[in-house]
Amino acid sequence: MVEKFDYLVVGAGFAGAVLAERLAEELGKKCLVVDRRDHIAGNAYDKVDASGILIHAYGPHYFRTNSTRVVDYLSRFTQWHQVTYRVLVWTDGKYWQFPINLNTFEQYLGRSSTSEEMEATLAKWRENFPNPKNSEEMVLSQVGRKFYEMFFQNYTRKQWKRDPSELDASVCGRIPVRTNRDDRFVSETFQALPRDGYTAMFRKILDHPRITVRLSTDYRELPPTVKYDRMIYTGMIDEFYDFSEGRLPYRSMRFEPETLAREFFQPAMQVNYPNDHEFTRVVEIKHATGQKSPVTTIVREYPQDFGPGKEAYYPVPAPDSRQLYEKYAAKAKQEKNVVFVGRLATYRYYNMDQVVAMALTEFEKLKGTEANN
Ligand SMILES: Cc1cc2nc3c(=O)[nH]c(=O)nc-3n(C[C@H](O)[C@H](O)[C@H](O)COP(=O)(O)OP(=O)(O)OC[C@H]3O[C@@H](n4cnc5c(N)ncnc54)[C@H](O)[C@@H]3O)c2cc1C
Repeated sequence: MVEKFDYLVVGAGFAGAVLAERLAEELGKKCLVVDRRDHIAGNAYDKVDASGILIHAYGPHYFRTNSTRVVDYLSRFTQWHQVTYRVLVWTDGKYWQFPINLNTFEQYLGRSSTSEEMEATLAKWRENFPNPKNSEEMVLSQVGRKFYEMFFQNYTRKQWKRDPSELDASVCGRIPVRTNRDDRFVSETFQALPRDGYTAMFRKILDHPRITVRLSTDYRELPPTVKYDRMIYTGMIDEFYDFSEGRLPYRSMRFEPETLAREFFQPAMQVNYPNDHEFTRVVEIKHATGQKSPVTTIVREYPQDFGPGKEAYYPVPAPDSRQLYEKYAAKAKQEKNVVFVGRLATYRYYNMDQVVAMALTEFEKLKGTEANN
């Protein structure tokens, strides 16, 4: 029996779920959402583990944004748990405040200081790169070599298996440097987690009479009896084209959870280990979710190469990968009935709010197209 849909949406992460909801709700379109994983929510998927602790299955997802449009949209599907994300770095045998701020500088000096002294010292330490071309130049131009080596160099090498000099300036440039005592991990005006978790929020987004969700389903294996007019594709763009131009580089990750019979393991939600161990960071999301429990679960993150059987978590922001991506982007532009949206389909190191904004913008374009049909 033929099953007919207006849209096939490949991927039940932010990009796919938001577009399916908009198309179904505002344009009355019938959507089939498929994901080859056995759950919705893409990389933002969270779940309660065997000890009853809510964990983020694919690394911590700290929602933050400056966009009221994105907050207004998502607030239809969730309430929020306000949180200030706090991160420490473990190096030289102690915890350091991070991102770099006046407290970090005082720790370094071993005495109290002022913003003026910090600014004057950084002015001396900074190296002169008026237009930083890569992440090394970026950090050296912001804080100089001492802090670059303490906090950035080896962390970046572990995370990306590339030297910071081989990565776009934006990779390390994402991390703020402050000369006041603001020790928040990120600077956006809105910082909160969905109150009941990401997966619960996605369940509501996708709960629509015109949306059908099929999990553990690769779109390429759908039977020929499934028909659709248009496709929204949120997977890897090189895979869509059977790697015809070559393989884009991605970074993968191994997440190693451990449950401990104590209330907390570490003094903050996230501790980075730039210069010790093989893992990059230890995340104890309970600090952020505010969950009360006598036990805790931590997750250690081991970056690894991407390959068969592994998830592609991060596009690699670098000049060589961008060049290759452009070839795929040129092909994608020719497609009449496929829209490429999201982190993997546009090969961009986007945060969740940016992907939601992108999906909402794509929807507006599709609305225009549909109106002209
Ligand atoms: C470790 C880690 C930490 C992060 N931390 C943060 C953070 O703190 N804050 C933040 O804002 N962002 C964070 N992000 C980024 C965030 O995960 C992404 O911005 C967001 O999830 C992208 O949504 P998406 O829909 O584009 O992609 P995804 O969530 O990757 O969804 C794409 C889906 O498509 C499915 N798919 C692919 N190919 C096929 C196919 N052939 N058939 C069927 N299904 C297919 C995949 O299984 C996947 O579920 C983090 C990402 C990672 C990896």
